[in-house]
Amino acid sequence: MRAAVLEAFNEPLVVREIADPTLTPDGVIIKLEATGVCRSDWHGWTGHMSMIQSFPHILGHEMSGVVEEVGKNIRNFKKGDRVIVPFNIGDGVCPHCVAGHHNVCDNLKLVGFDLNGGFAQYIHIGEADQNLMHLPENIDFVEASAMGCRFMTAYHGVITQGNVRPGEWVAVYGVGGVGLSAVQIAAAAGANVIAVDIADDKLAFAKELGAVAVVNSKQVNAPEAVREITKGGANISIEALGIQETFLNALLSLTKRGRHVQIGMSSNPNGGLTSVPINFLLRQEAQIIGSIGMPLPEFSTMLRLVESGHLAPGKLVTKTISLEEIHASFEEMNTYAGVGVTVINKF
Ligand SMILES: [Zn+2]
Ligand SMILES: [Zn+2]
Repeated sequence: MRAAVLEAFNEPLVVREIADPTLTPDGVIIKLEATGVCRSDWHGWTGHMSMIQSFPHILGHEMSGVVEEVGKNIRNFKKGDRVIVPFNIGDGVCPHCVAGHHNVCDNLKLVGFDLNGGFAQYIHIGEADQNLMHLPENIDFVEASAMGCRFMTAYHGVITQGNVRPGEWVAVYGVGGVGLSAVQIAAAAGANVIAVDIADDKLAFAKELGAVAVVNSKQVNAPEAVREITKGGANISIEALGIQETFLNALLSLTKRGRHVQIGMSSNPNGGLTSVPINFLLRQEAQIIGSIGMPLPEFSTMLRLVESGHLAPGKLVTKTISLEEIHASFEEMNTYAGVGVTVINKF
């Protein structure tokens, strides 16, 4: 099969023929129709992800496609089924999976990092009965792939971990793919959303996706601006970049008893070790909540909202490209340029 192969960190991916994946009894092989290019792929490409230990490696973790072949133990899928692949693969048997929290599985595997990913014509997914989702007919593949990491991550962060309620103020710091998703999802849930970023084009896009106010943190003190707009502070702050400064600003934007949801992953080699203003934390009775990926059971709810048009991840897609063009997307990410979500649909 053809794949865009990582052969060394920070070097352009090489598009070439590579061996087809091998089918296991509990796995399926999927012919990919679309794969998103996410900032985590960029983290993988630059060597920030410790799970990539050997080359050649295939990145890519926002995938959808059609089942090509199923292992002999597979019960829920057959050849020809349209599917979407959540990037967090659980074993289905540990206490957390059994409780429905596949995203924090004791043996969690991340597609494209621990396993070969979707910058290729085909992918193998193990334990597929517990990890794949059927894709409804009226959701196209490009829109589906826009959901495979960033949108589902934002959904879990805003709806489940943040527990957003109608009328609440939500400040979203960093409106790249996951931040823009959080804006749309929080707005659809009835929240008043403020988008914070340093790029006016991204802020304009956030407004199109439902933000009622925007703050350019290059021009003003962002926490002060948020506290002024909300007359006291946001109920929820979402940090979608994984940077010390935005983490701090997001936290300081909260009103009393506010919740900070950390979605952005740090590229800091020390695991994102960061200072926290503990006196602010205790005086406000603020909470800091982590959020990673999304457990499988929440996927069906999200897909229903997409089917009915209440959520529209396809609106985030600004560009479709071929395997050969991935490197240009990575170069854009080097400088945080580029607005919205890019999806590969030519393999
Ligand atoms: Zn598990
Ligand atoms: Zn991702």
